[in-house]
Amino acid sequence: MMSQSSLSNGGLTIVQKVSAIIFIVFGGFFACADPIDVHDSETVEKGYYLKTSLWSSLDIPVCWENPNQISNRDRQLVISAVNESWSSAAPLNFYGWERCTNSSQGIRIRGADDHPHVKGLGAVSNGTRDGMVLNFDFKNWGSTCSSSETMRRDCIKWIAVHEFGHALGIAHEHNREDTPDSCKDSPQGTNGDVTVGEWDLDSTMNYCNPIYTNHGQLSVGDVETINAAYRHLISSTSSEPRTPRRVSVRLRRDNSVRVTWKPTGQGQSHFVIERSKQKRNGTWRAPNTVAKVNAGVKRQYDSPRRGTYRYRVKAINGRKNSEWSAWKQIIAE
Ligand SMILES: [Zn+2]
Repeated sequence: MMSQSSLSNGGLTIVQKVSAIIFIVFGGFFACADPIDVHDSETVEKGYYLKTSLWSSLDIPVCWENPNQISNRDRQLVISAVNESWSSAAPLNFYGWERCTNSSQGIRIRGADDHPHVKGLGAVSNGTRDGMVLNFDFKNWGSTCSSSETMRRDCIKWIAVHEFGHALGIAHEHNREDTPDSCKDSPQGTNGDVTVGEWDLDSTMNYCNPIYTNHGQLSVGDVETINAAYRHLISSTSSEPRTPRRVSVRLRRDNSVRVTWKPTGQGQSHFVIERSKQKRNGTWRAPNTVAKVNAGVKRQYDSPRRGTYRYRVKAINGRKNSEWSAWKQIIAE
């Protein structure tokens, strides 16, 4: 399991953390893993994100090299994990997610039972074949992740968030020069050249985080960093998104509800759909989020139990929100 990680191509791996998973999963004492392959020759500079590797657009294409070897469900886990992390923290729009062609640009993902890694930080891997490797099986590598189906799915999501951090140009937090002595993990992979804020133990990019990849949750520092890195693009594009129009709800033959809408103008990265149920006394329960979908999506299906419901939709872009649409009511049989 502690397979040798290859850093000869500048790859960034989280192989060291496999041993950490064991500690976390089985409740043992957490310790930072022993270094496997240390860059003794490499000067450790202050690093967090690598300015020279940032993408020139907030819209970044993604494709799959071998989609037939990864289930739809597993691919959706990656898409959701990325949308719920980096794309929620900043108006980053990862789009496409189709089979790669020879000329595909952007992030090219191969599913393989190997150590997850990217071939270079950020846009350095733009269009690079197998530029990102993600593991969905965890038999040859990271077998702790295949200890249960829940664990396997969690690992897919957590690792996707970490690797997409690299794909956005973020280096390992513990590579920073101001890493405290208490963090024993050795620097790994390419360093950044811009540090943001204090050294961040909670970062999903920090091997010394006692929570493996922070379980795919971005820390406050991660959110600050991604917004600092792409501020020059965000400030020019992210005015507040506008409320979706023509929101309608319809009951389908199978008693599911279809919510449709039209985007208003440009600049939204996602839509959020909320549902609220009517109580017996005619008032409404607190709304729940039904779904958060990519900007290209214009409908959402929902299967509520019997009752009277109302739905509304808003557009978001990073942390900016449009006003909610008016509620649309429907009776589910
Ligand atoms: Zn990494």
